[in-house]
Amino acid sequence: MATFIMFPNKKGNMKKGLLKPLINAIFALLLIALIKIVAAVMLKHVNDANFYLEIVLSLAVVIVLLKFMQEFNRQLEISSPAYPQARSIVKGIIFLLVILTLYGTFGFLSVLPYGIYHIFFFIVTLIPVYYLWSIFYKNSDMLTGILRNVFSEEIIACSCGWKNDIASRFCNKCGLKLSNAQNNRQKNNML
Ligand SMILES: [Zn+2]
Repeated sequence: MATFIMFPNKKGNMKKGLLKPLINAIFALLLIALIKIVAAVMLKHVNDANFYLEIVLSLAVVIVLLKFMQEFNRQLEISSPAYPQARSIVKGIIFLLVILTLYGTFGFLSVLPYGIYHIFFFIVTLIPVYYLWSIFYKNSDMLTGILRNVFSEEIIACSCGWKNDIASRFCNKCGLKLSNAQNNRQKNNML
């Protein structure tokens, strides 16, 4: 018998755990955006100030993204230890965002000959794109399960630990009959 049945709020806590790094990241990005706006108004007559500030703030965005990835994946490891793929996907998306941020930041280098700046970033971008594609390709059936586990409110927990849709009659993972598993039924509180 899976232990989380005894703790009906645990899934709610997991969601809270995943939400916290997300909110932290959003607030950090808002702060960066505000600094950018203030600087655009106040420093517009200071030579090159906005140019250098732009670089510093973009690097701050990169740090925020990496910190978010680290904390979000730590929570994901607690809530879904059986799905390292979910963490890989987060990693792939964050690296993609980091590369795009850097591409935008150092755009002044695009004057380099032969479009080498754009070619370099194009090749580097292909790495996380391919990485994400390969994860989705190898785990397409498992991903639907992960999404359901994260977003479904009402589930039937099987003794194997898999959380099935409330309408399921059989476990989607091990095939066990669920309809008479009355005590496995649980309602999850949203957050
Ligand atoms: Zn099962």
